[in-house]
Amino acid sequence: MDNGYNFKQLKAAILSMSRAQDWESAKPEWKLIGISEADTPETCLCGHFPIIERCTITNRVTNKTTEVGNVCVKRFLGFRSDLIFAAIKRIRGDMDKSINADAAVFFHEQGIINDWEYGFQQNTFRKRNLTGSQMATRHSINRKILNAIARRGIG
Ligand SMILES: [Zn+2]
Repeated sequence: MDNGYNFKQLKAAILSMSRAQDWESAKPEWKLIGISEADTPETCLCGHFPIIERCTITNRVTNKTTEVGNVCVKRFLGFRSDLIFAAIKRIRGDMDKSINADAAVFFHEQGIINDWEYGFQQNTFRKRNLTGSQMATRHSINRKILNAIARRGIG
């Protein structure tokens, strides 16, 4: 595999924790439940080093949970964790910016933002000219997300 992302190794590790024993059937057993940033670089299940952007995935059938690097989660499992990490980078760079829709769904599902904030987010994420109070709300949502990931990762 390219760049040290060893799909064969990842597949073997994931299948050992899955009920289904062929890749295409095993994939849907898995769900993205968390994201976090490693303090020190870690090694992905595929053997790739270093990874900082970690995704926690769980198997709905076997209840096994494991961590995989963001690149592999997207490339091999097809979860758009990359969009969530992109959203974090975006607001970390500029608190006036908004997270994207994929990230909003994820953070809402994880209980980081509540129903009202999720609705606000949906109505305003494309807007650049917010009122003062709307901008204050956007900042407060962004802060919640950044605090959650800094504290313990999300999920
Ligand atoms: Zn990997």
